[in-house]
Amino acid sequence: WADDDFEFDEDDLAETSQDRGPVPTVAVVGRPNVGKSTLVNRILGRRAAVVQDEPGVTRDRIAYDAEWSGKQFSLVDTGGWDPDADGMAKAIAFQAELAMRTADVIVFVVDSRVGPTDADEAAVRILRSTRKPVILVANKADSERQEAEVHDLWSLGLGEPFPISALHGRNSGDLLDKIIWAFPEEPTGKLKERGPRRIALVGRPNVGKSSLLNRIAGEDRAVVDNVAGTTVDPVDSVVEIDGEDWILVDTAGLRKRVKFASGTEYYAALRTEAAVEAAEVALVLLDASEPISEQDQRVLTQVVESGRALVLAFNKWDLVDEDRRYYLEKEIDRELGQVSWAPRVNVSALTGRAVEKIARSLRVALEGWGQRITTGELNQWISTLQAATPHPTRSGKAPKVIYATQAAAEPPRFILFTNAPFEKQYLKFITRKLREDFGFPGTPIELVVKPRE
Ligand code: GDP
Ligand code: GDP
Repeated sequence: WADDDFEFDEDDLAETSQDRGPVPTVAVVGRPNVGKSTLVNRILGRRAAVVQDEPGVTRDRIAYDAEWSGKQFSLVDTGGWDPDADGMAKAIAFQAELAMRTADVIVFVVDSRVGPTDADEAAVRILRSTRKPVILVANKADSERQEAEVHDLWSLGLGEPFPISALHGRNSGDLLDKIIWAFPEEPTGKLKERGPRRIALVGRPNVGKSSLLNRIAGEDRAVVDNVAGTTVDPVDSVVEIDGEDWILVDTAGLRKRVKFASGTEYYAALRTEAAVEAAEVALVLLDASEPISEQDQRVLTQVVESGRALVLAFNKWDLVDEDRRYYLEKEIDRELGQVSWAPRVNVSALTGRAVEKIARSLRVALEGWGQRITTGELNQWISTLQAATPHPTRSGKAPKVIYATQAAAEPPRFILFTNAPFEKQYLKFITRKLREDFGFPGTPIELVVKPRE
């Protein structure tokens, strides 16, 4: 490899969304032609969404990053696909359900000149079951007289209809105020103030865990009673690496140099699991002077399955010569494919080589683990991706992502609403591209596909 350590661009990472955090999502729901796109454009203050006169014209970009009164939110136009064979009522029910599952506020648009239709009622039946705020918008109320005539819509049972004219901008500012007021106090998943991050130091026996612990811990910092904002268990240690405090979880065993006798594998696995569960990031130690073993692989699999962030530390680097380096590189290519996204650092617990650099890799991995993409950004990215490289066609049709959202971070979890089941290969492709374009270093990524029946 070109450099001893994993390389990353600090500026790129600074751009990722950890400091942005999650923003509320507003979904605009309604049957075709009621003026959803016009409203979306009005809110965005630009002509971004394609407005068409034909009902149900497929639009590609359906989620946007928006802002009002200094509040950022994600604006989703759920009308961006063709109701096709399913029929209107079914299509709109699907939209409503999608909005309920993924939005913080639902804006339900009806055409005040037409009054409530069967399709509107179908959506309302679904929307009534949500505890999320639903704002009933009576669009195309272009004049004061028309405003006064929206009373029919009370019959929908969604409360007072809010008259606007998306086309002329009538009341649209007031509507935005109302939307902002309806935001949840804490958008889901808001980052908490946190104390030191929690590391699990794991690896098969004899890779040098105790040695590394002694190298970074020093006996005196072993027990700290009170660290701001965090509970430190007696089995944990607070250590300083690269000028920053970290909590090393479950270090009691390592300190006592407990070496399990026979049946070790089982207990070692349990111990690893407990430590990893209690941590945010796992620092997996490997012995660089020895071939990567099955036991190493098992530890790695455990960490990946736990959904924690991961850093690989190749220890005993003092024993690595040119030859070994060459073979190790081959082994890494061949055997560590499942964690090719993990930052790597080459260290020596014995000499202290590069031990400080572990901190940098941990930070990178935790950043990737907590990274978020806004719904707008994600949907624009996915529609571009699908246009360039569509899913292979199945009986004449290419399965498509209709709408995507990052449902969680730590680790990143994406939900893809699709019009048909997806092939594994294509999901792998999406995951690879996500990493190429957004990074997500040091973290597993989960993609969940929800095909529309
Ligand atoms: P969508 O299918 O729900 O996204 O509806 P569009 O935004 O494409 O609008 C459908 C048609 O209604 C277009 O011709 C718009 O110009 C028109 N329209 C939208 N909002 C208003 C409005 O407030 N007043 C009037 N008069 N027409 C509107
Ligand atoms: P653990 O079982 O993972 O806790 O491993 P230990 O810390 O007990 O280390 C196992 C053996 O490897 C001991 O003999 C250590 O002295 C040795 N060792 C640990 N780290 C290094 C290193 O960086 N270089 C060398 N040459 N030996 C090491």
